Amino acid sequence: MSVWNPWHGCHKISPGCLNCYMYRRDAEFDKDSSIVTKTSLFRLPIQKSKNGEYKLQTGGYVYTCMTSDFFVEEADDWRKEAWDYIRVRSDLHFYIITKRIQRFGVNLPVDWGSGYENVTICSND
Ligand code: SF4
Repeated sequence: MSVWNPWHGCHKISPGCLNCYMYRRDAEFDKDSSIVTKTSLFRLPIQKSKNGEYKLQTGGYVYTCMTSDFFVEEADDWRKEAWDYIRVRSDLHFYIITKRIQRFGVNLPVDWGSGYENVTICSND
């Protein structure tokens, strides 16, 4: 299992956000969780080690966007590229939890069809 946090920061939108882990963790470092920024690991799925192999090795689950929401508004443009990485890494399975399922269609890849086989999206409130 791996974690990929392409961006960080979010806005509380539901009662389920009350105890958001990311907000609690950021508060310990006086960090403003409402500012959404790309992380230094944005390109992690396609990054390779010196030996030429992907840093995220084949076959695992990748818990995606655990310090934000994959469908947060500020990431609309970045998400296009993130989908590209997910498409390229069909050997991994990306697991996405969102509270913004209503924004699922924003910048969805044109080849999404009935969904990528390597993606599971879980919607919760
Ligand atoms: S949507 Fe998720 S990441 Fe965003 S504030 Fe709510 S619990 Fe936190």
